[in-house]
Amino acid sequence: MKQYPIHKALKHFFGYDNFRLNQQVIIETVLSGKDVMAIMPTGGGKSICYQLPAVLLDGLTIVISPLIALMKDQVDALQANGIRAAYLNSTLSNAEQNTIIAAVRNGEVKLLYLAPERLFASGMQFVNFLGTLPCSLFAIDEAHCISQWGHDFRPEYLGLSALKQYFPHVPVIALTASADTITQKDIVEKLALHQPQVFISSFNRANINYYIQPKKKAFEQIIHYLDKHRNDSGIIYTLSRASTESIAGKLKEVGYNAAYYHAGMGNDERSKVQESFQRDDTKIIVATIAFGMGIDKPNVRFVLHYDVPKNMEGYYQETGRAGRDGLKSDAILYYSSGDISKLMRFITVENNAAQTNVLKKKLMQMKEFAEYEGCRRQYILQYFGERSPAYCGSCDYCLSNLEHRVATVEAQKILSAVTRTGERYGVDYLIDFLRGSASAKIIPAHKEIKTYGIGKDIKKDEWQTIVKQLLQQRLVDMEDGAYPALKLNDASRKILRGELEVTLVLKKPKEEVAEISTAPQHHPALLQELKEIRREIAEQENVPAYIIVGDNTLLDMATYLPLSFDGLRRISGFGDYKVSKYGPAFMKVLQAYAADNKLETKIQLKTPKRERAVKTDKPSISNTQRTSFDLFKEGYDIADIAAKRGMAVSTVENHLIPFITSGELNAIKLIGKAKLDEIVALIKQTGHTIASKPLKDLLPEEYSYGDIKIAQAHYEWMKDA
Ligand code: ADP
Ligand code: ZN
Repeated sequence: MKQYPIHKALKHFFGYDNFRLNQQVIIETVLSGKDVMAIMPTGGGKSICYQLPAVLLDGLTIVISPLIALMKDQVDALQANGIRAAYLNSTLSNAEQNTIIAAVRNGEVKLLYLAPERLFASGMQFVNFLGTLPCSLFAIDEAHCISQWGHDFRPEYLGLSALKQYFPHVPVIALTASADTITQKDIVEKLALHQPQVFISSFNRANINYYIQPKKKAFEQIIHYLDKHRNDSGIIYTLSRASTESIAGKLKEVGYNAAYYHAGMGNDERSKVQESFQRDDTKIIVATIAFGMGIDKPNVRFVLHYDVPKNMEGYYQETGRAGRDGLKSDAILYYSSGDISKLMRFITVENNAAQTNVLKKKLMQMKEFAEYEGCRRQYILQYFGERSPAYCGSCDYCLSNLEHRVATVEAQKILSAVTRTGERYGVDYLIDFLRGSASAKIIPAHKEIKTYGIGKDIKKDEWQTIVKQLLQQRLVDMEDGAYPALKLNDASRKILRGELEVTLVLKKPKEEVAEISTAPQHHPALLQELKEIRREIAEQENVPAYIIVGDNTLLDMATYLPLSFDGLRRISGFGDYKVSKYGPAFMKVLQAYAADNKLETKIQLKTPKRERAVKTDKPSISNTQRTSFDLFKEGYDIADIAAKRGMAVSTVENHLIPFITSGELNAIKLIGKAKLDEIVALIKQTGHTIASKPLKDLLPEEYSYGDIKIAQAHYEWMKDA
């Protein structure tokens, strides 16, 4: 094995300054020869976890991937970094395949990409061939495909169960973004991994802003957004094939570069659309959920949901296609509760009540999320079993202005509707009744009641908000059951008698996420020129532009103006190979621009940076830290753990800090909300995010250094989340 410190290797081969999430510890474990299972969200950076070991280990790494369409891209990207990679699949001619097999035999290939069925093709011929080679590692990408419990089971993957029989001594790394534990367990069993080390990264996608907006005139809302994001690429998800076509058509009419994509199109047509999107020739894709698995485009800046997804898994996966490059991106759901009712009607699985119920429950959770009065990110992470703070600072809730409004009269109207109709009706009926709906659903006798129609002046969705708030504040009750009716409680009766005032907390939505102001100042004209030269190189090499360098790399160049090759090396995304291969072309543009505009380099301002936006270069977690955290999760408090392990309290506190920074551990659990809020407020006020002494001096005696460190870690998480 080559003696490269792995940080150096990361910069040399891939041009990155820091590891993300668990990358470092995963790579170290793979290099130590153990089996590994790595669970990381989409865009988390799974590929490096086997690609870096592959170049450092002697011999060949076999990468199993289900998506033939993606192999070429991955191999192109590796080759653009000077790494010898190849793939074998049915898109290659026999002659091409033979050339590659010969190269593999001669030890000229470090990474070989294969589809699972290929491995066991032609009897055992191929496996036997691999047996003659020095195989150092198997990487199983999208490993959840082996599990029937996963969301994307592929029978071809089952063949991989035999892998360990043929190659008992070759370590295996299984990678997936699948969050559920049944699938994870199944993967370990099916692949027969040997005492695997399992690494689960946080599912927090810190660079994605989550936004939910009431759906009114959805098309206009989308245009409103797109108008402000003219140069960005993105995906618009909608539920029906017909609407993908009609929306894309309307977008084109008003001058947008859009195309549609759905499963009813022919294969060729679909790959054309996909490719054109990958290459930035098409900016906007309007698609059904069929568009996804194959998308590996790093610079998707927005994912808009025209219709509500059917479950949180889908929502997370679809929004997750935004911002794989780590730059700020938006996920916006245009939501109306009517869409949920529509979906509910179609959700039945014939002759399978159990599955129907599961799907219905998932849809209800989606509804709950969309209507949730709290931090969206927190909801998402809790859904996937992660603890997280109640404030993220980058979702519509955390960014909205909360408005307090007295609404006693409205509350009286709805409550009197509840009593007058005998406490037997649900929210929708009561609202229709209040609004004087002419619908036949309203019982004729009810139309005679005085309350009928007294709520006409208020729109339906506003009534819904009011009722939801009354429920949340326990000012009215709702029965359980299939047709949940509203019932009065003591508080309701007080309101009706005028003894209790009702205040609603209403969110005044801001239109979009404000640009977070830490974005570095770049030279837009220069960025344009750099994009142009990148496009030219990409065309010459016949690969998508981002394979040459990513948008974030261009942005860094346009910001820091590296005017020497040493400077260029400090830009994230420039490994040594890319500096020598593409450096001269970019350098020419940079130097000319600097000379014309009399600018000097600002590269000295560039601190070896933390990976932008993604909650990343977290120091790798040592076993002793993990042990303390595990004990904490079992219910021991810090003092218990310190006693149990014979350590100082401060040592245990230090152990837990990284878990707070990564969002796995909520600081409230350690020091309580009041303390935390107070210290965080002080951190914001003074800017002391690292030094603890100045804070200690300002705080009451009983606040310990440990409390301060914990709050600082929490602040760090919040800032990046
Ligand atoms: P995944 O397979 O987990 O969805 P990828 O491996 O495709 O994610 O990585 C997503 C993006 O992040 C890619 O553009 C990749 O080059 C980039 N990336 C991965 N690791 C790092 C890192 N340590 N620093 C900067 N960028 C990274
Ligand atoms: Zn939030």
